[in-house]
Amino acid sequence: MRIGHGYDAHRFGPGRPLVLGGVTIPYERGLLAHSDGDVLIHALCDALLGAAALGDIGRHFPDSSKDYENIDSRILLRKVAVLVRGQSLRVGNIDITVIAQHPKLMPYVAAMRQCLAADLAVHEDQINIKATTTEGMGFTGRGEGIAAHAVALLLPAA
Ligand code: MG
Repeated sequence: MRIGHGYDAHRFGPGRPLVLGGVTIPYERGLLAHSDGDVLIHALCDALLGAAALGDIGRHFPDSSKDYENIDSRILLRKVAVLVRGQSLRVGNIDITVIAQHPKLMPYVAAMRQCLAADLAVHEDQINIKATTTEGMGFTGRGEGIAAHAVALLLPAA
């Protein structure tokens, strides 16, 4: 079995939807990025690519490319799933921690797990999503942005 870790952080900005784990969350600000800013999926992609020894999300989907401008990050996740399968690997389990002072994310976790499970063709019980604040400390605590950590365990496909 192989393990991988991913981390990402994005800054809040006005006039953008907040998309996390493929779910659009009602909030006054969204995350700035070349893509849709789905920091949760970006961390997950890096965990999966890391476990498969395939580098990172920036190598496969460079933010200098017009192809990925404002792209739905679920499309990137599905592409990463294909890359993982191409290495004869399958997902064992995934654990994700989202770090955000606001908004409250727990009401959306079930829908996020559904999105990720569908994109990776796994069962929802193979995916765990946790949300925490930093009790007001640091850039997430000040509400400047959202960060996410992900850990993925991959198993031989056969
Ligand atoms: Mg990112």
